Amino acid sequence: MEVFKEINPLKSYLKTFRSKGKQIGLVPTMGALHEGHLTLVEKSNQENDLTVCSIYVNPTQFNNKGDLSNYPRELENDLKLLKQNGCDVVFVPSDEVMYPNPVKMKLSFGHLETTMEGAFRPGHFTGVGIIVSKLFNITEPDRAYFGQKDLQQFLVIKQLVSDMAFDVELRCVEIIREDDGLAKSSRNLRLSAEDRKKSIILLQALQRGKSLLLNGGTVETCKLEVSQMMDIPNVSLEYFEVVEANNLTPLTNISDNINVALCVAAFVGEVRLIDNIIFRSKKE
Ligand code: AMP
Repeated sequence: MEVFKEINPLKSYLKTFRSKGKQIGLVPTMGALHEGHLTLVEKSNQENDLTVCSIYVNPTQFNNKGDLSNYPRELENDLKLLKQNGCDVVFVPSDEVMYPNPVKMKLSFGHLETTMEGAFRPGHFTGVGIIVSKLFNITEPDRAYFGQKDLQQFLVIKQLVSDMAFDVELRCVEIIREDDGLAKSSRNLRLSAEDRKKSIILLQALQRGKSLLLNGGTVETCKLEVSQMMDIPNVSLEYFEVVEANNLTPLTNISDNINVALCVAAFVGEVRLIDNIIFRSKKE
């Protein structure tokens, strides 16, 4: 496994590889890797000749300085896991390498940027769009792998690829969960033992919401019931949304035969968690 810290040596390594007609898969991450990330690596390995995983805690997508400084950094263990899981190339740039000059450009993604995560994390998706654009330009991947865990991020990147005509196929990989259903996340490490137990409320709420909607409940009663269910000590709901899965348009009823996404964000103790489920509103 090759590890690069600088852009030009990585580019020339990949250029030689590409000139032999081989295909490249990119897995962008912020490190503190777990099975979710490793599943993206595995999918990339299945579809490409070479997998590049980037590990970079991107400051421009953090609107909260505390969140940025608390973000877990475990490079040594990450490299070990990537090697064990057949990753070929790791890109671990510093801030100076990724941002030699402060970024002045802003990206706008319309509704996708103002709803849900965008509403609670102003500027987040501009930061995501810029770093992913840079990684696409540096690695020129044939395919890039993202998790459904960050559904809104995936849709923003889909829009970015379409608007900017990036020549890359996007893949959205299912959510990998702990045994009790909590979506795997680097942030889970920061939960106290008691909060860790409480955190399964996110998936329980999503499942309850789905069951209500599929059994004829209205979106309004579903939202009310979920917010009541999550009204427990040390859990603070930020949003629970019922939206169309491919564009995050809010749904007022789900009588049509469409892909519905239920998306939730909540603080459990000090830790902000997100989760979602996608389902078809009616059997075809
Ligand atoms: P992060 O390091 O949190 O920025 O995540 C890097 C990539 O891994 C993103 O595309 C995430 O959506 C994806 N990811 C994070 N957690 C999971 C998970 N539990 N299952 C599948 N993919 C995930």
